[in-house]
Amino acid sequence: MRQNKNGKGGAPGTPVGWALLVLLCAVALLLGRCVAEQTQRTAAKWETTIPNDYFAVRATANAEAEAEESGEGEAEEVMMLKIACLTFDDGPSSNTQAILDILKEADVPATFFVTAQEANLPYYPLLKTAVAEGHQIAMHSASHKYSQIYADPSAFWLDIKALRTALEPYLPVAGIHWLRFPGGSTNTVSHRYGGRNIMKTLIAQTEEKGYEWIDWNVCGEDATASHPDADRILKNIQRDSNGRDVCVVLLHDTKATGQTVKALPAIIAWYKENGYNFCTVEQMYEARDGG
Ligand SMILES: [Zn+2]
Repeated sequence: MRQNKNGKGGAPGTPVGWALLVLLCAVALLLGRCVAEQTQRTAAKWETTIPNDYFAVRATANAEAEAEESGEGEAEEVMMLKIACLTFDDGPSSNTQAILDILKEADVPATFFVTAQEANLPYYPLLKTAVAEGHQIAMHSASHKYSQIYADPSAFWLDIKALRTALEPYLPVAGIHWLRFPGGSTNTVSHRYGGRNIMKTLIAQTEEKGYEWIDWNVCGEDATASHPDADRILKNIQRDSNGRDVCVVLLHDTKATGQTVKALPAIIAWYKENGYNFCTVEQMYEARDGG
């Protein structure tokens, strides 16, 4: 099996073209299940940036051999590569080391959308370890206080600046350009503080600044007030992942999310059993861009 990176067979009407079309439709549909308030804007973002050709791979070894046997010439069978991006928000925390240990043991890369609250700072040296072990560090918020960061656009960017300053002693921040908005890009809590258009403005400014942003389409719901146990978190993920080829999985890394750590080996095992490949958010998009 190899990646179909050269665009061969990608024209509409060919099996690869049809497969890409089907995937595009699936991607358009898959959003909105996890975040009930998904807007058209978010769906459009996904539709235009989803790395389609990363997922279209030809089953060369088997299909070509079969075709040769049956005398049908070059095989055109197409397979979809299934992707799982595990993402951990709000860390680092007292649980980060355990998360890193599990990821290392399973040889799985993940993405950490970090904050710089007082509780996070003692664990900042672990971010260095995370990067050394192949994980991606990305921006979430310094304070994570909705009333503060969503008061107006300049407050939001001041907060991101504070986060980058906090990260600076540990990581080359120039290379950090992925962002996840607290509450997601379609949150409405922000309207209370910064008006109805605050997210629209922030999204536009994010793109102007050359940053990339991403939401999620699978929720562990591991940081809710009901404090779900590990089994419930796994079930939430299985429910949301059902029928999806691309899963961007929202989990949390705080001192209160010990059950996430407990669930993590089973989450990884389940995705592996179901044929998913793990990568960081950055890797998923780099693959699309041929990088
Ligand atoms: Zn968060």
